[in-house]
Amino acid sequence: MESNQLLSVAEEFGCPLYVYDAAKIQSQYNRLTNAFSKVERLRINYACKALSNLSVLKLLKKIGSGLDTVSIQEVKLGLHAGFSPEMIIYTPNGVSLDEIEEAASLGVQINIDNLSILEQFGAKHPNVPVCIRINPHVMAGGNSNISVGHIDSKFGISIHQLPHILRIVENTKMHINGIHMHTGSDILDIEVFLYAAEILFETAKNFKQLDFLDFGSGFKVPYKKGDIETNVEEMGKKLTKRFLAFEKEYGRELTLAFEPGKFLVSEAGYFLAKVNVVKQTTSTVFAGVDSGFNHLIRPMLYGSEHHIDNISHPKGKERFYSVVGYICETDTFATNRKITEIKEGDILSFRNAGAYCFSMSSNYNSRFKPAEVLWNDGKAHLIRQRETFDDILRNQIEVEI
Ligand SMILES: *Cc1c(COP(=O)(O)O)cnc(C)c1O
Repeated sequence: MESNQLLSVAEEFGCPLYVYDAAKIQSQYNRLTNAFSKVERLRINYACKALSNLSVLKLLKKIGSGLDTVSIQEVKLGLHAGFSPEMIIYTPNGVSLDEIEEAASLGVQINIDNLSILEQFGAKHPNVPVCIRINPHVMAGGNSNISVGHIDSKFGISIHQLPHILRIVENTKMHINGIHMHTGSDILDIEVFLYAAEILFETAKNFKQLDFLDFGSGFKVPYKKGDIETNVEEMGKKLTKRFLAFEKEYGRELTLAFEPGKFLVSEAGYFLAKVNVVKQTTSTVFAGVDSGFNHLIRPMLYGSEHHIDNISHPKGKERFYSVVGYICETDTFATNRKITEIKEGDILSFRNAGAYCFSMSSNYNSRFKPAEVLWNDGKAHLIRQRETFDDILRNQIEVEI
């Protein structure tokens, strides 16, 4: 989106504000489906933990996406947004058998990632088709908090436990209809990804009634100029070739599934915050905005570098700033960052604010969560109102003291 468009949206709805560009979500979706156009049965399940606003879910549903969910609440949000149960896969980690049974009763695809639950679920519900999440133990990840395929990872069932999986399946007579892996965010090297895919193919040969193979996600998007990103087109070419060959060998039609979150929505999002104070100190110039890690925690949690534009003065002289929040704790969005000259009252736009930004926001410091706007067909639609003081009081019970 252009600076002036963002500025007009900020003027209309106030700051802090999240804005999502529907056209960018659509074009990312198209880019992925085009890369795999030779696969007849391709399924993209949007990982909705990245951004779960109902209007965004509806947009993705409209363009043909399915949904990847990790909690029963996300399952219910998806159903509420109009997804049919067959379009939802539920991939939890460390949840109770009760919750998995509840999801199964809603008719969504169950994906199980540990032997204990597999055995219990299989014994009780042998007729419910289940996908198995394996851990191929391949390192493919950026930040250590988001690498989930390594040997110490809590995710998935280790491929070294395949004999035990097979024993459980045989004993319970359960129906395994999919094999899944999600090696973690940020695939930088396609060869590493393809190596993990080979492990998934090898595993799949042990199951005779599969309907789909799910390769998870981890598509990296650029945050700044010169950043490496996953070459989706090259990956599409290479994996398609391997997949089609495997399908032939397997002797049964299979769906190729992915579950991207970041790839679909990261670049579509902008976080807009107003500069309250410009503070010169002995060592730097701080620009203090009307927000903090209560609204955007990724820089502090993952060290992610969100590009910042001064959309009030996009053409000014560039200077170096430390951009900080108003939380009573160190909450630095950026240090020593070149930004066009900032005046108090200017609005800063943080890029790549679609994925894991609003969805990780909180009420810390008893602040309101930001409003959200969807920019669609040249118009701004408010899709979540700003919180009010009633939201801060909600659910609190005042007792006689
Ligand atoms: C979070 C998650 C994803 C999405 O990861 P991105 O890096 O946002 O694409 C996909 N699958 C599972 C199981 C997840 O937990």
